Amino acid sequence: MSITRKRDLVRHLLTLFSAPVIVARTLPAHVGHGQPELHQHLPRFMLRLMSRYEHLIMRSIDFLATRDWIYRYDPIRRFVEKTADLIMSTINGEVLTAGEAKEMIDSIIKGGYTVAVGTCPCRRARNELSDEVPNNTDMVFGRWAEGYIENYPGLYHEVTREEARELIDEFDRLGFLHQVYGFLKKEGVAFVVCNCDQEVCIPLNAQKLRGFQSFRKGRALASVDREACLGLEECGVCVSRCPFDARLSGGPSGAVDTDKCFGCGVCVVSCKGNATSLERKKGAQLAYARKLVL
Ligand code: SF4
Ligand code: SF4
Repeated sequence: MSITRKRDLVRHLLTLFSAPVIVARTLPAHVGHGQPELHQHLPRFMLRLMSRYEHLIMRSIDFLATRDWIYRYDPIRRFVEKTADLIMSTINGEVLTAGEAKEMIDSIIKGGYTVAVGTCPCRRARNELSDEVPNNTDMVFGRWAEGYIENYPGLYHEVTREEARELIDEFDRLGFLHQVYGFLKKEGVAFVVCNCDQEVCIPLNAQKLRGFQSFRKGRALASVDREACLGLEECGVCVSRCPFDARLSGGPSGAVDTDKCFGCGVCVVSCKGNATSLERKKGAQLAYARKLVL
């Protein structure tokens, strides 16, 4: 096949894959906030499709991120990267601290909306249910929650404010990463808080392995009290637990690479010397949870 024909083929395929995204962009936000109310305009069939088949989307992302052969051929690599960009510009997330995740759940429940918890779609996509850590870490809300309970009975169930808060604390102790996912990069449009086990999280893996922009940084940065740090030789837990390789392994103590830090707080809960804390970045705002957290 000539180079021109190959280019044409790639262009046609891109157009084909872009169509659903363009249609989605014309729809109003499905579950959102930013005002005192959640806005829920997603057509029922889309909600039904997402709630039943979200794990298949995760499986596709996992496939695209983990197949080395894709990245050996330039036209295929470019096509995959463009497709990933399209998916990520439609649905992507940002990191929350546990405190922010709890504040957000508080506001949502206070507004009279349902919060439901169900099995992590990444675990379902990978067929990796755990006997050791919780599998039900996916926290959906508003109409999204009602749709998941209705369309996937048995997999999702409603939780109270106290139950949701306790779960977030439990996930935090386990070093799970909290992220809120939004839609179309519109401010204040959110539908789920994921509490991710980094061993199975497909968006995290895709971001680290291939640079897919699965989610953005949060509002905080880790900071270390070097006096209190037990030292990397003695401890070093922060280096092994940080999902973003932002704890520097060179040097006597667990310093932070502030360019890489996403402000997730995993190193804070796992710090053996209580030497790490999170500090709010000046002026930093969350897009999706902006008006739901202080
Ligand atoms: S340094 Fe700490 S807060 Fe920053 S990304 Fe790593 S684990 Fe998260
Ligand atoms: S986990 Fe805490 S005490 Fe241990 S090396 Fe890291 S900063 Fe120091």
